[in-house]
Amino acid sequence: MTDPAFPDLFINGLFVPALDGRRFETIDPATEEPIAQVARGGAADIDAAVKAAEAARHGPWGETTPAERGRMLMALADLVLAHREELAVLETRDVGKPLGGSRGDIDGVAETLRYNAGAADKIHGEVIPLGPRFVDFTMLEPVGVTAHIVPWNFPLGMALRSLAPALAAGCTAVVKPAEQSPLSSLHFCQLLEKAGIPPGVVNVVTGFGEEAGASLVAHADVRAVHFTGSVETGRIVAVAAARSFKPVVLELGGKNAMIVLADADLDRAVESALEGGFDNCGQVCSASSRFLVHRDVVGAFTARLVARVSALSIGPGMENPDLGPLVSAEQLAKVMAHIHAAQSAGVHLLTGGHRPKNLHRGYFIAPAVFANVDPSLPIAREEVFGPVVTITPISSDGEAVEIANSVSTGLVAGVHTSDISRALSIVRRLQTGSVWVNGWYMGGVQAPTGGEKDSGLGRERGIAGIRNFLRIKNVAIRL
Ligand code: ADP
Repeated sequence: MTDPAFPDLFINGLFVPALDGRRFETIDPATEEPIAQVARGGAADIDAAVKAAEAARHGPWGETTPAERGRMLMALADLVLAHREELAVLETRDVGKPLGGSRGDIDGVAETLRYNAGAADKIHGEVIPLGPRFVDFTMLEPVGVTAHIVPWNFPLGMALRSLAPALAAGCTAVVKPAEQSPLSSLHFCQLLEKAGIPPGVVNVVTGFGEEAGASLVAHADVRAVHFTGSVETGRIVAVAAARSFKPVVLELGGKNAMIVLADADLDRAVESALEGGFDNCGQVCSASSRFLVHRDVVGAFTARLVARVSALSIGPGMENPDLGPLVSAEQLAKVMAHIHAAQSAGVHLLTGGHRPKNLHRGYFIAPAVFANVDPSLPIAREEVFGPVVTITPISSDGEAVEIANSVSTGLVAGVHTSDISRALSIVRRLQTGSVWVNGWYMGGVQAPTGGEKDSGLGRERGIAGIRNFLRIKNVAIRL
């Protein structure tokens, strides 16, 4: 790697500065100090990266069998685990998350690689019966150069969620990490050669969304765009990709409801509310940010949740507390604006919502719980993307479903109940891509995930995740 204080782009197997020499600062959110001056890629760098990826398709990579690619991805998973600690430290310094969380994220990267490695040679076309005078079958071909535009909340995890299946399918890739979190993806690139992955197959161009990101989406040689981020940016990306009919997979925001019925196991419900609402400081598209709790148990649920939330430890991610800082000053300002607006509307804040007294620097905020929230208020409808949750009492299953479905997004929803028939009846009525029953953050690398409505388009993970990167060619033969 080049000087860690001045990380370069990774194009065609080499670390190179941006063609115009520009750089941008990445900041440690726990200290507000700069960590590194990172190469700021623009349109010309994207063009070089896409050309390298296009050329690599026609090199040795194009000759690999799915089983060989599987072995390379398996080797890459081992290398990721061998470098787990340094990758985890980079994530924590770049985005502030507790070190334990970062280690878990890196384990998740290895799991993603292994799943896709194993699946690489188990996906195939089909034979279609057209009668005795024909043979008709489908061939699955890699789509070509793929674009991966990544958010900052799980920097390497989100990059690999689409990159691993793209490689399994035989595609090549250009990755554009978020400007807040460029370091781990660049570090990861050092492992590719050791895993036997040829130069140009994976390229990483760090830089800003409107420059590097937009140029990547617009590039004529890119054949698929995978984007995870905000609804607003997702809309811009989808429109830009449509100009050249590129397929897009978009995983966007969510305002995800957890329904707690009166017959729920309350200990379990509180546990999953804590995890769903506050893991990664609530900076997760699939966080559970609103709790719709039956009137009979809302008092007990609220008291237990508030007791747990107020006991969470907050501090620099390197000290491995329960909660680190938010990712940036901008994110802290956005979260505070949501909290202040809710308070001005008279919503009852039971705990948190302010800077912790002992932390004078860094983008820290004490986790916040709003009670008795009218579901029509912005705090109960808009994604906050921070450690802020609302509790709304409900009187019936039907009312809970109606409120859960009343927002513009539809990523995930959850229900806690001891009655599985009731749970399944609610599952059928929820307009989300995933539903979690009696828990939160379930479903692993094997299970497809994605959103309905404004939460996006398409599915990632599982076999569906690899199929995104394969196009169907139909072959018909007259006998
Ligand atoms: P957030 O608002 O949470 O910071 P965004 O959705 O804006 O997230 O960003 C997610 C990713 O999309 C980042 O890598 C960012 O650089 C990139 N991005 C932002 N704007 C654009 C754009 N116009 N075209 C392509 N990518 C973009």
